[in-house]
This record gives sequence, C-alpha cells and structure tokens, in this order.
Amino acid sequence: MPANKKLLVLPGDGIGPEVMGEVRRIIDWMAHRRAVSFDIEEGLVGGAAIDATGSPCPDATLDAARRVDAVLFGSVGGPKWDSLPFEQRPELGILRLRKELGLFANLRPAIVMEALADASALRAELVKGLDIMIVRESTGGIYFGEPRGIHMDAQGKRVGIDTEVYSEDEIARVARVAFDLARGRRNKVTSVEKANVMQSGRLWRAVVGEVHKAEYADVELENMYADNCAMQLASRPKQFDVILGSNLFGDVLSDLAAALTGSLGMLPSATLGAVQPSGKRHALYEPIHGSAPDIAGKGVANPCAQMLSLAMLLRISFGMEEDAKLIETAIERVLNSGFRTADIMQPGRARVGTSVMGEAIVRELEKLAA
Ligand code: NAD
Repeated sequence: MPANKKLLVLPGDGIGPEVMGEVRRIIDWMAHRRAVSFDIEEGLVGGAAIDATGSPCPDATLDAARRVDAVLFGSVGGPKWDSLPFEQRPELGILRLRKELGLFANLRPAIVMEALADASALRAELVKGLDIMIVRESTGGIYFGEPRGIHMDAQGKRVGIDTEVYSEDEIARVARVAFDLARGRRNKVTSVEKANVMQSGRLWRAVVGEVHKAEYADVELENMYADNCAMQLASRPKQFDVILGSNLFGDVLSDLAAALTGSLGMLPSATLGAVQPSGKRHALYEPIHGSAPDIAGKGVANPCAQMLSLAMLLRISFGMEEDAKLIETAIERVLNSGFRTADIMQPGRARVGTSVMGEAIVRELEKLAA
C-alpha cells in the first residue's frame, strides 16, 4: 500500500477558517466516496499563530510544511494585528513559508466560468471561456535586488533605488515551470520582458530561448514586451495560454488578468519550489484574496477560491487530474444553477452564504460521481 499523501492545512485568520471549513467538507467527501484519504495536519499561521505563540510562522508550522507533500493555506491578517511593528505582522507568516521552502514560481490562473462572464471588466464575449495561467518568478528580481533604499544625493535630494537582478539559473528554473505547465494545457508560452530597454530583460529573453531550444522545442514560444502584453490582455486575452514573467511584470499582469475574471472570491493560486533529488517539490496553494475582515464571522464569504486551490493542489502536487476536474465542474454547475455568494451576486440569482454554497458543491460532487 502506498503511503497517504501528506497535507498541511493552515486556515489562518478572518474568513480563512470559514472557507477552509468548506474545503474540509470536500476532503471528507473524497475520503467517503472516492476512497482517497490524506494524512492531514492542521497548523497555526498569521494572527492566530501570533496569539498562540508570539510568532506569525512558528517553527512547528515550518517543520510541518517541510515534512508534507503540499500546504493548503487560507489567509492571514486583520485589524487586531495592524498596530504591530512590520517585523511581527501576520503577513510575515506567508513570507517566511515562501522563503524557507524556496517557493520561486507563483502560478495564478485566470479562468472565467461561463456563469460569471458578465462580472468581467471586459465585454462577456471577450472573456467567455478564458483560461490562462500566469507564471510569476517570486523570489528574485526588483523586489529583492541590491542596492535598494532611499539615499541622499550630493545636493541633499532624496533618491530612491531598486535593482532588477536575475541570474540565468533563476530565469531557467521558472521558465521550465512555465513550459511544463504549457505541455499539459494548450502548449504555448508567452514570455514577457522589456528586452528593448532592460539588460535583465535581454538576459531573460535569451535564457528562456535557450531553455526552449534545448528542452521544450515542442512547445510554442512567443516573446512579448510586458507593456504590449498588458494591452493585449485587456483587448484580446484569449490569445494567451501560459504567460511567463519576472516578479514585477508577473505581479502587475496577474492582477490585470484577475480583473478580467471579475471576482476575487473565485481565484486560486499556487507557489512551487524546485524539484528535489527525491522527486518531491515544495508547494503551497492559497486563494488570492486576503482575510476579508469586513465580512469575517458573518458566514457570507465565497469558499470557491479556497476549493479551487485544493483542486490545483490535487492536480499539480498529487497528479489527481480527475478529482481536480470534479471539484471544478461541481463549482461551475452550482454557479450555473444560480447560487451566488454576495461577492458574485447578480440580479435574478439566489444569494447564499458560505455553508449553503459548500453543501451545494458537495451535493453536485455526489451527482457527478454517481
Ligand atoms: P481582501 O482580499 O481580504 O478583501 C478585499 C475585498 O474583497 C473585501 O471587501 C472582502 O470582503 C472581499 N473578499 C475577499 N475575499 C472574499 C471572499 N472569499 N468572499 C467574498 N468576499 C471576499 O483584501 P484586503 O481587504 O486588502 O486585506 C485584508 C487583510 O488580508 C489584510 O490584513 C491583508 O494584509 C490581508 N491579506 C492577506 C493575504 C494572504 O493571506 N495571502 C493576501 C491579501 C491580503
């Protein structure tokens, strides 16, 4: 008998525990109906961890994260901890996890389900059926490069400095993530940079091209300037499959892509580390939304982004494509049936709370698996 997959669940703060509760429903359903079970540990992170241990990411959480096959993260933060000094804030919990696990590739799908196409910032016909994946390098580039800071120049005027630095290895490893993903999708990578005006951009284009030629010649590669990509995303987004970019460009473009889908409560994400010699790869999955303190405790949060994060985890970390698809299809069907949480409410639909949405999705899973 193969050992069970090990999963660390970190609900965190605000709506994190509420939406994670609905995910646990799906996990329980999978254990009963699909005979799939995981070894699940639950840990503390964020404000909840500060209250219990004084640290936003206690060593016990970090140790568990290193041991398991994948981490499912909720969200952290809230007004209770807003007055703490920066080094002690709940948000440091996720940053420590990303750093210590070496999670360098951030994956953000932007998918528009048919039922929600009207919620997009673009006309429905431009986004209906949209399914793109943005791969953002997330541990290097201008957010970390040295020198950085605000200095005085010789005239006593302040000068702000950030430095975009990328080594060829950093570029190559994230490019491989993008090419690997493309192979399981529509086989196209659009790599974005500003090779026309930035030296790091010239290197980016060259290294991505080399990796492509040596290892992924079967995948279509397109190079595009980041500003053009922003324009194309806002006008003809369906031309893209996988978009690969640096920390800075990936950050901006993934938020733009999120606006195309129109709903924070529907968007999952993943952050992956390097494949280790054992074949294992650290990975953390989380919704892109935060802890939503304005609605926490009211039972109205949309659990779909957290559930879709589980689907991503099953697909990418556990290779369980069929189960991932089941969850996605169940969510889509519940939306088609007219159920909406407040954040995605539309005229003529039925407004429901977190747990009614969760129950409806499990009922749909039951039908799909029958
Ligand atoms: P947020 O994403 O928490 O909320 C923005 C808005 O979207 C709010 O009106 C909220 O009610 C709504 N919203 C978010 N998720 C929703 C859901 N699932 N269902 C329905 N509505 C939803 O962003 P914010 O308000 O800027 O930040 C709140 C806290 O979350 C802050 O402390 C911030 O630092 C933290 N945060 C944490 C993460 C993380 O844990 N990775 C990410 C972003 C923000």
